[in-house]
Amino acid sequence: MATKRDYYEVLGVDRNATNEDIKKAYRKLAIKYHPDKNPGDKTAEEKFKEATEAYEVLGDDQRRNIYNQFGHEGVHAQAGGFRGFRSTADFEDLFSGFSDIFNSDVFESFFGFGDIFGRSRTGTARRERVHRGSDIRYDHNLSLEEVVFGKKVEIQLTRDEQCSECRGTGAKAGSGRETCPQCGGTGQVSRTQGFFTIATTCSRCKGRGNVIKEYCPKCRGSGAISKKRRIVLDIEPGFSEGTFLRLQGEGNTGSGGGPTGDLIVVIHEKPHPYFLRQGNDVMCQIPIGVYQAILGADIKVPTIDGKTVRITIPPGTQSGKIFRLRKEGIPYMKRRGRGDQLVKVIVTIPKDLSSYESKALQELSMKSRNTDSPSLLHVKNFE
Ligand SMILES: [Zn+2]
Ligand SMILES: [Zn+2]
Repeated sequence: MATKRDYYEVLGVDRNATNEDIKKAYRKLAIKYHPDKNPGDKTAEEKFKEATEAYEVLGDDQRRNIYNQFGHEGVHAQAGGFRGFRSTADFEDLFSGFSDIFNSDVFESFFGFGDIFGRSRTGTARRERVHRGSDIRYDHNLSLEEVVFGKKVEIQLTRDEQCSECRGTGAKAGSGRETCPQCGGTGQVSRTQGFFTIATTCSRCKGRGNVIKEYCPKCRGSGAISKKRRIVLDIEPGFSEGTFLRLQGEGNTGSGGGPTGDLIVVIHEKPHPYFLRQGNDVMCQIPIGVYQAILGADIKVPTIDGKTVRITIPPGTQSGKIFRLRKEGIPYMKRRGRGDQLVKVIVTIPKDLSSYESKALQELSMKSRNTDSPSLLHVKNFE
């Protein structure tokens, strides 16, 4: 397969385009390349598919976010790639407002969700209720060290899985469905109230028009069983607060044959006692003695990955001076290399001088150059 074009390029919008811009750009292309207007034109068909695929990602905030962070690979690995629409509801959501363009069967033949979509489009009074399973959100805390090195993490969660006994139908083996006795199969119940007759969805069959004859003994008719599962997450070096992973099909089971939802893992960073992260740099503060600051010294500084690095403090170093240790910060996510470590030295003035020190310093002070009180300093930052 030829290399995939950038989705923004496909739609001809720039990276900070608003949802509205994206929608407009897609509408234009969809009208231009619509197969109904270009019968038998393979190039137009390809362009139409390409634009639709791009819109399917960029038109959805969550998927757009993944794409921005990880590119095509991300949308493939983490969201399962372009997999058609997850459900009718998704489709209707994403393409609502394009009904003037999509009144043909192109979607069914192109993207292979004829079953779900087709059924909902037949417009019969009683349509199968197909629901995609819900997504599960899982918040995971990582320490700064884990962010630096990456890690495989096992998490445990409870989710609804399809009942193995009835394969999600909720009916006892060998027992089918029967016409709902409450609504007689219409899915609606009419109630007369004063002058009005109000039709409401039948509470017994939830509008389906039929009910299970005999419930599955294992799931008691729900079609789903709550299960505890262990799932291994692959934490890559360089993750940060708010990074999220979408594990397709690891959420709750759907109903009526609908697809399973996704598991969305949101990464949080635990604060570190000594290091502060800023982008891919880490910052720390280290105290040095007043004599070290005046005379100069070599000091040892711990890094985030557990090494110690030597810094040479030159004579006359002022408190607050920042030293930069190159490539001792957080690894970058999509490219080689890492950020830096910034070390701020804080000069500490001793408060408990011994009598010897006190005497020696007094003597030194009298013999040394005259340090008159300075005139006012220019104020830039008053802390
Ligand atoms: Zn069951
Ligand atoms: Zn009913």
